[in-house]
Amino acid sequence: MKSYTEYLYFETKKPKDFINITHRVEEALQKSGVQEGLCLVNAMHITSSVYINDAESGLLHDFDKWLEKLAPHEPIENYRHNLTGEDNADAHLKRTIMGREVVVAITQGKLDFGPWEQIYYAEFDGQRRKRVLVKIIGE
Ligand code: ZN
Repeated sequence: MKSYTEYLYFETKKPKDFINITHRVEEALQKSGVQEGLCLVNAMHITSSVYINDAESGLLHDFDKWLEKLAPHEPIENYRHNLTGEDNADAHLKRTIMGREVVVAITQGKLDFGPWEQIYYAEFDGQRRKRVLVKIIGE
């Protein structure tokens, strides 16, 4: 069995952002040489997510609005976590809603997606360097 590990790094200019990372995961898959197996992609921080959904700008806007309604950033003092001196309680909640990782099957050397599926990195507390793990196993 082959195993391949790669870290992707992100430092977003905005506090919140949605980045399509499908192409970067496909590049990692090419480097791995795996034809049949599994690909795990996970955010390595508790204030960012990796998820799969449509690459459609309206939907990205809808996700952003929906998350802000569920866990508004302000007022900061409404969150117990922010009493520690942090201001990112909302980012922890958003991360939990959008998820930590995705697993995609690899079939004949390609990510075996359903229709319109794309892999996204979602940042909820950005403007600092953060990592995503790509782990590929198979043959
Ligand atoms: Zn925090």
